[in-house]
Amino acid sequence: MRDSAEIVIIGGGAIGCSIAYHLAKLGKRDVLLLEKAGLTQGATWHAAGLVGQLRSKRNLTRMLRTSVELYGRLEAETGQATDWKPVGSLRLASSKDRWAEIRATATTARSFGFELHLVSAEEAQKLFPLMTTEGVVGAAYIPSDGYIDPSSLTQALAKGARQGGVTIQEGVRVTDLVVEDGRVTQVVTDHGTVRAEVVVNAAGMWARDLGALAGVAIPAAAVEHQYMVTEKLADLPADLPTLRDPDNNFYLKPEVGGLAIGGWEDGAPTFGQDGGIPPGFARELLASNFERFEQIALPAAARVPVLNEVGVRNLINGPIPVSADGEPIMGPAPGLENFFIACGFTAGIAACGGAGRAMAQWIAEGDPGMDLWAFDIRRFGPHHAGTRYLHERAVESYGRYYKIHWPAEEMRSGRGARRSPLYGLLKDKGAVFGSKFGWERPNWFAPAGVEAEDRPSFERPNWFEQVGAEHRAVRERVALIDVSSFSKFEVSGPGAFDFLQGLAANDLDKAPGAVVYTQLCNDRGGIEADLTIVRRAEDRFYVVTGSGFGVRDGGWIRSHMPGDGSVGFRELTPAISVINLCGPDSRAVLEKVAEGAVDNAAFPYMTAAELRIGYAPVLALRLTYVGELGYELHVPSDYAAHLYETLWAAGAEFGIANVGYRAIDSLRMEKRYLYWGADITPDYSPYEAGLGFCVKLGKGEFLGRDALARIKEAGVGQKLCSFTLDTPVQVHGGEAILHAGEVLGVATSATYGHSLGQSIVFGYLPIGVAGPNDSGDDYEIEVFCERLPARRHDRPLYDPDRARILA
Ligand SMILES: Cc1cc2nc3c(=O)[nH]c(=O)nc-3n(C[C@H](O)[C@H](O)[C@H](O)COP(=O)(O)OP(=O)(O)OC[C@H]3O[C@@H](n4cnc5c(N)ncnc54)[C@H](O)[C@@H]3O)c2cc1C
Repeated sequence: MRDSAEIVIIGGGAIGCSIAYHLAKLGKRDVLLLEKAGLTQGATWHAAGLVGQLRSKRNLTRMLRTSVELYGRLEAETGQATDWKPVGSLRLASSKDRWAEIRATATTARSFGFELHLVSAEEAQKLFPLMTTEGVVGAAYIPSDGYIDPSSLTQALAKGARQGGVTIQEGVRVTDLVVEDGRVTQVVTDHGTVRAEVVVNAAGMWARDLGALAGVAIPAAAVEHQYMVTEKLADLPADLPTLRDPDNNFYLKPEVGGLAIGGWEDGAPTFGQDGGIPPGFARELLASNFERFEQIALPAAARVPVLNEVGVRNLINGPIPVSADGEPIMGPAPGLENFFIACGFTAGIAACGGAGRAMAQWIAEGDPGMDLWAFDIRRFGPHHAGTRYLHERAVESYGRYYKIHWPAEEMRSGRGARRSPLYGLLKDKGAVFGSKFGWERPNWFAPAGVEAEDRPSFERPNWFEQVGAEHRAVRERVALIDVSSFSKFEVSGPGAFDFLQGLAANDLDKAPGAVVYTQLCNDRGGIEADLTIVRRAEDRFYVVTGSGFGVRDGGWIRSHMPGDGSVGFRELTPAISVINLCGPDSRAVLEKVAEGAVDNAAFPYMTAAELRIGYAPVLALRLTYVGELGYELHVPSDYAAHLYETLWAAGAEFGIANVGYRAIDSLRMEKRYLYWGADITPDYSPYEAGLGFCVKLGKGEFLGRDALARIKEAGVGQKLCSFTLDTPVQVHGGEAILHAGEVLGVATSATYGHSLGQSIVFGYLPIGVAGPNDSGDDYEIEVFCERLPARRHDRPLYDPDRARILA
């Protein structure tokens, strides 16, 4: 047993072995993989082995595509058979709504050149002759998908890793992790202790317990997953593609002369909810439950009648990893410098090739090579890893695997955990809440007589009219929006200014009271965070960012803080509530209730003022994300209800309205305000996003400055553009953008602009096309596979001269 290694990977399943393989490829030789049992003996050995690539986001599909490329060459490269069968896959639409979903996905696939064919029911049957066409509206056919033997794949990755110099030790269980000065320095095992520079937690369903050893909350659970293997079938056609019929909730693949069928039912039991996953569980299965499997077997047999005639060989029941939102968990653990997580993979056989490569790059080069926010561990907070929340969400996510993913749909479980002090007040006024980072946030308000319930749709959802009315209240009158879930921090101390000035792209060298909108960039010039910094005093800054970005942005700030104690960091999110008072009459309302002057001269745009409103001490920020005169009113949470009531009463004569988050999206897109995670990510620089006005190269050194200076000098290769569609159609993001008949981009955000009366789409275009506006005539947006004429705009669609926000 070695006593030190540069990188220690814990877990010898598909994921751990793939990370080891890719680290070796990147030239890392001093890598030690520890496996408590034998390789594959966690969840990997009993997986069905389907490999599907298409996801709703470009980078996720890119990651899975990397897997398929690897599986095509791994056997030849390592000499270890993998049984990779690139037979293609069919996904049936057995309902009209599913067909809309498939067409939306096909449009997205097209936007990044992914080969996917939409076929008729009859064409699908030609590819998969065992199916009936009853009720099939159409299907998606992906020729490059397939299936693989999970154990052989993992052994091949392990062999490749060993060939590259990695040491793999089986039968060694990690029992503790020693943390010193924000680093995991030692890995304690039942065979001795290993000193490590970097530690990787690829422990599958044990990852949560392992993370706890280092004080890291990892919301990774396991749910019982079953698939049935049939006896051999006479005359089984060769090279059958895999088949997914999500409306009938099953998947199917050929399996040694027979068929394997599995699916995702509601309310499946979790594994290890009480007392954790047993450490000794290895190469084991759970008791089969035929009764529960009927929910999958019966509809499958209706679609593939031969299943009625063939015997069952076995029903495999194994624990499958599922995270709190059903997506994998990857990346550096918040708060620790050298502890990486890769777990929660529900489709880890399909994902391991690409995920292993991304993780290896993250570890060896500090960056996964592409924005992986949808999988990033920092999307979770500590509440996600609590047993009750985690398991409720894991069971719901599992049951949703094959459900239609409606635009703007909300999770039903894990609700009500975090509530603003205004929750009850707003609920009484018809608020329909959504959930974000554990918070209940008002999405829209149902007036009397309107059902206070979401009915999502690919066409106009039931909230469309109400959101339009809320939008107009902001544009025409005055509104209150409860944005208390914003993440807020204080950064203070004698070194605070120099530190933040060295992190932010914009210039913070302003007098106390200044409000600065800025990006925090990485050393490639990519946008890591997009936030507001208020200078409260010479040595004290107040930082505000989105509800879901607190762990990420706070972690980014803390990880760059000097270690000499000159800078302090304080989390203020629950202590401070925020009400956005916005609209052309907002100043008139504020004037009625605030002590002191709030006119334009006394309280100009992008400044902060300490006001007394009613009884409440308020930090008011004059800024907007909706494109109107407005104020974010930050107030100690105990005063929030009083502040709301005071504003509401004062606003009555102006027709003040309650407004929710869905209207914000419509308002901000008309004004070309961007959303981090969609329009801006680490993949894009501020210059590409049109945020060059926030980058102050002349202010001195800051993180990303050199890269940004180079980008500015060389000129950008792509640019964020906005488009409108004349056709009245609902857009949801992910639509392909075409110029002169050629697909050139994808919609990063899309919504309906209620003032404009048109749908709006944002997306990046190559600079050759997105140069000075070429009259904007030859653009199209592909919506549900239909190409619709679009017009490009270079300026904000609403109030381009900012007269309203500066009023
Ligand atoms: C029935 C079933 C069917 C499936 N079908 C598919 C499919 O068709 N396609 C697909 O893509 N995915 C499928 N999956 C999912 C797939 O199995 C998982 O996504 C994948 O195996 C996860 O790999 P992993 O390496 O993260 O976890 P694991 O394979 O569980 O590996 C984790 C390893 O860590 C080790 N470990 C844990 N704690 C310690 C410790 N303290 N010290 C040392 N070692 C430790 C464990 O022993 C284990 O070997 C299926 C799963 C099930 C249950």
